[in-house]
Formats: sequence, structure tokens, C-alpha cells
Amino acid sequence: MAVAVATETLRTLHRMHRQLADLAEQLAAGPRAVAIRTKQVQAAEAKKATAADDVKKAKVVADQKQLQLKSAESKIGDLEGKLNACKTNREYQTLGDQIAADRMATKVLEDEIIEALERIDALKPAVPAAEAEIEAAKKLLAEADARVKSETGRLEAEVARIRADLQAAEKDLADDVRERYDRVVKQKGADGMAAVDGQTCGGCYQQLTGNMQSDVMLGRIITCRSCGRLLYLPDSSTSA
Ligand SMILES: [Zn+2]
Repeated sequence: MAVAVATETLRTLHRMHRQLADLAEQLAAGPRAVAIRTKQVQAAEAKKATAADDVKKAKVVADQKQLQLKSAESKIGDLEGKLNACKTNREYQTLGDQIAADRMATKVLEDEIIEALERIDALKPAVPAAEAEIEAAKKLLAEADARVKSETGRLEAEVARIRADLQAAEKDLADDVRERYDRVVKQKGADGMAAVDGQTCGGCYQQLTGNMQSDVMLGRIITCRSCGRLLYLPDSSTSA
């Protein structure tokens, strides 16, 4: 009688340990999901910072070229002012050539400024695009956060309930089984137990000896010599 109770109790305890392991997995999955969403927000923020920096650098380039153009133009103005002061045709000619060359240089500069401004225009849209990405990622994060918060309460209540049931059920184990059970659960948790699968351990599929098989058929709790799991008769075999 007592041994049959042990089988039944261990079967129940194993089920509870599996439920607890599953709940622990679900509880761990919540913060993992939040961490992934947080990383996505950070990635979008980094993207925006890079995009804004690219625009800033392009503006610096355009500003520098505009300053160069201004000083080149004022230099040309100065040279033009000196034209009237030329005393010889040769001086006039030399100065005129230099002004023409400087004008060519400013033309190149003007083209470069147009290119720099076009580059700014091309880079600018990446900033609001990244901002939209940040908003979307933040929304997903808030959703994940809210979901995890509400789920965590429910899961923790479930864990507390099963733990209480587990402790109550553990009291039904006979002292000798309890000792083996405590040791194996401490080491392996839910993996410390297995139902017998035909003539093998349901955990590691090691063949059981004839003695072990008959012991388990009698409702005794045996230990797998290969993996150390506590073995019990599955429910279907009892009813069959
Ligand atoms: Zn085994």
C-alpha cells in the first residue's frame, strides 16, 4: 500500500516540478523579451545620432567652402580695385590674368558648395526616419514591458500555488524515498525524476535490470543506475 502511494506521489511531484520548470522558463522569457526591445530602441537611437552627425559634418563642409568663397570674392574685389592703379599695360595684363584665374577658382568652389548643399539635403531625411524608428521601437518596448509586468504577477502566483502544493505532497513521501528525492531534486530539479518507459529509464533510455523492472512494477521507487533519476511507473501502466 505504502509503495503504491509512493509511486502516485512521485508522479504528482514530478508533474509539479515540470510545471515549476515551465513557469520559471516563462518568467525568464519576459525580461529577455524586454531586453531585446530595449536593445532595438538603443540601436534606433544610435542610428539617429549617426544620421544627425552626418548632417552636421556635411554642414561644416558647406560652411567652410562658403567662407572660402567669401574670402576669394573679397580678394577678387581687392584686385579689381587695384586695376585702376596699374601704371603699365603689363601690370594691368598680369593683374587681369590673376583675376580671371581667381574667378575660375571661385566657379569650382561654387560648384562644390552646390554639391555640399545637395549632400546635406540627401542626408537630412535619415534623421526623421530614425526618429520614427525610435518611436516605433519605444512603443514595442512599452507593450512588452506592460505584458511582462501583468504576466509576471500571474506566473508568480501560479509558482506560489504549485510550490505550496508541492510542499504538501512531499510530506507523503516515505523517509527513505524522501531522502533520495531531496538529493536528486536539489541536483537536477524536474530532471531528477522520470517515468519508466517500457523496460528502460524514461530519462536516459538505459535498459533496466529484471530486478529493477519487477521493483518498479510493485510500485517501488528505484534509481536509474545510469542517470540517477528516480523512476516510477507511469499512470497508463498502472491502469493497464
Ligand atoms: Zn536513466
